[in-house]
Amino acid sequence: MTDNNFNALGLSSGLLDNLASLGYHTMTPIQAQSLPVILSGKDVIAQGKTGSGKTAAFGLGLLNALDVKKFRIQALVLCPTRELADQVAKEIRRLARGIHNIKVLTLCGGMPFGPQLGSLEHGAHIIVGTPGRIEEHIRKRSLVLQSLNTFVLDEADRMLDMGFQSTLEAIMEQMPSQRQTLLFSATFPDEIETIAQQYLQQPVRVEVESVHAEHIIEQRVYRVSDYQHRLKALKLLLLDSQYDSAVVFCNTKRETQDLADELKSAGFSVQALHGDLDQKQRDQVLVRFVNKSVSIIVATDVAARGLDIEALDTVINYQIARELDVHVHRIGRTGRAGNAGMAYTLVSDKEQYKLELLEAHLQQTIEVSKLPNDSILKQSPSQPEMATLQIDGGKKQKVRAGDILGALTANGDIKGADIGKIQIYDQSAYVAVRRSIAKEALDMLGNGKIKGRSFRARHIRG
Ligand code: ADP
Ligand code: MG
Repeated sequence: MTDNNFNALGLSSGLLDNLASLGYHTMTPIQAQSLPVILSGKDVIAQGKTGSGKTAAFGLGLLNALDVKKFRIQALVLCPTRELADQVAKEIRRLARGIHNIKVLTLCGGMPFGPQLGSLEHGAHIIVGTPGRIEEHIRKRSLVLQSLNTFVLDEADRMLDMGFQSTLEAIMEQMPSQRQTLLFSATFPDEIETIAQQYLQQPVRVEVESVHAEHIIEQRVYRVSDYQHRLKALKLLLLDSQYDSAVVFCNTKRETQDLADELKSAGFSVQALHGDLDQKQRDQVLVRFVNKSVSIIVATDVAARGLDIEALDTVINYQIARELDVHVHRIGRTGRAGNAGMAYTLVSDKEQYKLELLEAHLQQTIEVSKLPNDSILKQSPSQPEMATLQIDGGKKQKVRAGDILGALTANGDIKGADIGKIQIYDQSAYVAVRRSIAKEALDMLGNGKIKGRSFRARHIRG
């Protein structure tokens, strides 16, 4: 397939010859789709899963546009973490081997500031960095972007997850408006659309292995008899299924809390979400669920309104919804982003007529499945990967994601990969960290400084 050959792109011979030496003979699908557009100088929004070869797509684009003789910063790549920035810089250096004297500099948080100043004084063609530190250099005028041609946002969704939106905006405000912007992301939450509309110029969209694929939801129905049997059926299904994040729907507020309490005493990682929670409690439940430090939410339909989670893999209807479109809405929350989703519904004899209505509505028959064997009840419920730490400082105290990341990684023991979502509220901030390092992370936050002062931090459990 000549289409997928790098030769047809009109890359400089230095780049092209080196690609062969790297063993890059054919373009990956995302490269084949995006490189012609990137090389034509247009803004691009590209979506592709991990390992699809995005780095070379933007790397070749920015290298091909580079004027080596002009020793100015011509390209800036932002990545969510230091590890990712290091990887990207390494790949760009590999791609650039065929061009003499290209200088790629990484500027990341968690690294001493002074040496970075020295490197910047020596100059560079390409900067790869994390948002917080780049913004700091711009603010202190040690980094000047007036010669910038190409700006890349890599893993944009992760950067937004980590609370970098306002930092990114501050950085983009300081760039020449005449530039090419390339945005790479695995998912497309609304905030990315907002950024794209404001900061990209007529971007061309490139999408590989569409994540907007039809929802793949598998529906299963289980027959239950009385209250005790319903509860047991739920436990069996939870123990048997491989969920990371599950929502269990109840029809009443009262039942929501009772059920969450039952599950908690059986060792499940669970929180209730219903109308009796105040705003702060509700925020905490959602924060912990979204950042994967709580695995199950038991919710009423009303309370779950606005619950929009990309990675929800399982929905369980503890009772079948009173109305059909509510049921359809419930199960539509799973199976997003091209992932398979499971929707289980428990039905008693009395509820049989609702199941029949549902089948008529969906124009499909839903077979009744057999519950997992009771022996599974001996297993202990799986525990979430992450833990949530709460910090007593937020937007009002000007705490930013980068500050928290900096405090956690200050001595180098905790890696970016150990840190999950960072969410900043008015008076507090929440950071997800791997459970295995929760204590260490808490110590780093407690002993270290954020924005030059100490904030109290605690591990939220229970
Ligand atoms: P992504 O950023 O999309 O997750 P990477 O850019 O890190 O993916 O690339 C994944 C791997 O594929 C890297 O090891 C890279 O060297 C390799 N790779 C990229 N493009 C090609 C290609 N055209 N041919 C062979 N290997 C490639
Ligand atoms: Mg990548």
